[in-house]
Amino acid sequence: MEVLQIKTQTKDYPLYVGSNISINLPEFIKGKVTKILIITDENVSNYYLKHIEEILKEHFPVTSFIIPSGEKAKSIDVFYKCHTHALQEKLDRSSLVIALGGGVVGDLAGFVAATYMRGVPFIQMPTTLLAHDSAVGGKVAINHELGKNMIGVFNQPESVVYDISLLKTLPESEMRSGFAEVIKHALIKDVELYNWLKKNVHSMADVQGEHLQHMIISGIKVKADVVYEDENETGIRAYLNFGHTLGHAIEAELGYGQISHGDAVAIGMLFAIKVSENHYGIELNHDSFLAWFEQYGFPISIPSGLSATSLLERMKRDKKSKEDKIRMVLLREIGTVELVQVNEEMIRSMLGEVCN
Ligand code: NAD
Ligand code: ZN
Repeated sequence: MEVLQIKTQTKDYPLYVGSNISINLPEFIKGKVTKILIITDENVSNYYLKHIEEILKEHFPVTSFIIPSGEKAKSIDVFYKCHTHALQEKLDRSSLVIALGGGVVGDLAGFVAATYMRGVPFIQMPTTLLAHDSAVGGKVAINHELGKNMIGVFNQPESVVYDISLLKTLPESEMRSGFAEVIKHALIKDVELYNWLKKNVHSMADVQGEHLQHMIISGIKVKADVVYEDENETGIRAYLNFGHTLGHAIEAELGYGQISHGDAVAIGMLFAIKVSENHYGIELNHDSFLAWFEQYGFPISIPSGLSATSLLERMKRDKKSKEDKIRMVLLREIGTVELVQVNEEMIRSMLGEVCN
């Protein structure tokens, strides 16, 4: 097991990562805890809820609430039902919420914990690779029908317990989705991780065991560093948005759930690399990135049927844009990115070339 100390402006907390570490879960729970509420989703509960409940029940009173799996659970309705369950089970301010699941469970349960009786502590137990990104940084939220993650707060957990043996059951498409964020973290701030990935990870079959643990730790370090420097998202936190300007536009144009977040971000990163070459007049060897991404099974072109004009409009409405100008995170060289206002006509013509 490895322990990372995550530093934030408001508090520091430990992140435990290793194989089979949930056996030691009670040791990671500090202070007086009157009752534990585990929030998890249908899929994760089928595999792991009994196991985790049994480990905890020897030390604490435990109650569980199972939410539907998928993005739809980040709703005001499910949020309210979690509160109803917590009230019926008489949780008090010394109770603890455990988020057992991927980013959906983490975002929802973290927001429930932030708001139940004005806030109770919570622990993140991520079960997806994507959650190496979502479990660190303190952003928790649910969706509004007018926008994703529109209702939320910043709320840091007491700790993160990342048992990588729980990821054994994760479908390959979900693993690849999280892997896109690992690649993103390498490209924006970690040349060593980039070189290591190129050397050691040749296909998704290599994303397991020790390799998986190394990626999770390295990715989390990048995310935690960036967030520490800019907790309230005024400056460099935008770097984490590399590949997301077009990625989000693709997700929204296709309709959420039609493409995985990671696949959309992979296409967005490839596009951002091409834009970087044009914007800076440099050679990043875009073709080698295409081949590299293809090796893992990522889609490497914009899904057919999407129009350049609609994607461009979405990119203009991205949260990074200012005064209707498109701003993208561009790659200067591997490990170094900048937030740049890009030429709209250049983007329009580049999108025109790749949309069909
Ligand atoms: P998710 O939680 O929906 O998990 C993906 C799927 O895998 C679900 O069907 C889930 O039931 C299943 N699953 C989870 N763990 C499993 C396991 N171990 N075995 C088998 N199946 C398992 O999605 P995600 O990709 O982990 O996270 C996406 C969410 O994270 C989005 O809502 C996004 O907005 C959010 N997010 C938040 C932040 C943040 O900073 N808070 C950052 C990035 C993403
Ligand atoms: Zn992302």
